[in-house]
Amino acid sequence: MRIEQDLKLGFKDVLFRPKRSTLKSRSQVELTRDFTFKHSGRQWSGVPIIAANMDSVGSFDMAKALAKHNVMTAIHKHYTVEDWAGFIKENPADVLKHAMVSTGTSDADFQKTKDIMALTDDLMFICIDIANGYSEHLVEYVEKVRNAFPDKVISAGNVVTGDMVEELILAGADIVKVGIGPGSVCTTRVKTGVGYPQLSAIIECADAAHGLGGQIIGDGGCTCAGDVSKAFGGGADFVMLGGMLAGHEESNGEIVEKDGHQFMKFYGMSSQSAMDKHSGGVANYRAAEGKTVLLPYRGPVEYTIQDIMGGVRSTCTYVGAAKLKELTKRTTFIRVREQENNVYG
Ligand code: 5GP
Repeated sequence: MRIEQDLKLGFKDVLFRPKRSTLKSRSQVELTRDFTFKHSGRQWSGVPIIAANMDSVGSFDMAKALAKHNVMTAIHKHYTVEDWAGFIKENPADVLKHAMVSTGTSDADFQKTKDIMALTDDLMFICIDIANGYSEHLVEYVEKVRNAFPDKVISAGNVVTGDMVEELILAGADIVKVGIGPGSVCTTRVKTGVGYPQLSAIIECADAAHGLGGQIIGDGGCTCAGDVSKAFGGGADFVMLGGMLAGHEESNGEIVEKDGHQFMKFYGMSSQSAMDKHSGGVANYRAAEGKTVLLPYRGPVEYTIQDIMGGVRSTCTYVGAAKLKELTKRTTFIRVREQENNVYG
């Protein structure tokens, strides 16, 4: 048994130190980033925020709404090939370039991904997603998908340490998804005792990925716009959001009326709710590692995404970054014991 003594940090442990700036207004801040991906060589330009591939977040409706802001959606994997065909027919290439096709790692998943990608050349992202990215099986699957789709942008995860980021990039991933346990409806840390504070995971994994010319997605744990900025400041190229985009009209969750108020169901993809819906219940060898919550219904996602983007722009002005790309270079984190004044609740 070994104990690592290095301090590992979450978003709540730091704040940005303000820096002198020549920027007059947050409207001068450019959030769009241009990437050329390592293996596929594909270029993409947009705001690198991604709606999570959860079935009450990453819907087709979410993709349509967020594409207006050049924001990406990882479409959850429970749509059929026919559903995809309908979505592709109804939406222009500009929406499709902001959509990721999510997949697990079974043979059936592989066939379905092939069928979806065959529908159009406009889809360029494949998001290979398993809860425990440390499985050797994921590395083999990434190699298989890379061979089948040499010109598609492949994201793979989830992992939280540099060694595994390197292995996945060397196997053919352009982007590695980072985060084990920080999610708002995740119970992995409680059920298994496994996890890694998300800001440190991002800092360490970004360093490993960038050294090889790859990118990372900081996935999970953002509770407010400031956390999104901290993820970018720590080196995340993309930031994936579940809970912050759940509960909206476009999230497509089930609406529940309670005491005259409207709520929307939101649940983890490994929760009892998800397994009941998609896998006929929780298999007897496993435990649910996600929870189900009721969120106050929040209406269209438009205002929320603008608020998040406004917050990140404002962070950039406080530290003097004219572009989101410069935010990491301009970031000095200070460790803190308190985040906010809660005197009024
Ligand atoms: P959030 O932005 O809500 O904090 O985190 C979203 C992320 O939580 C997702 O992108 C995914 O990585 C993770 N997640 C979603 N459902 C579950 C679950 O049931 N269990 C676990 N461990 N993680 C989940």
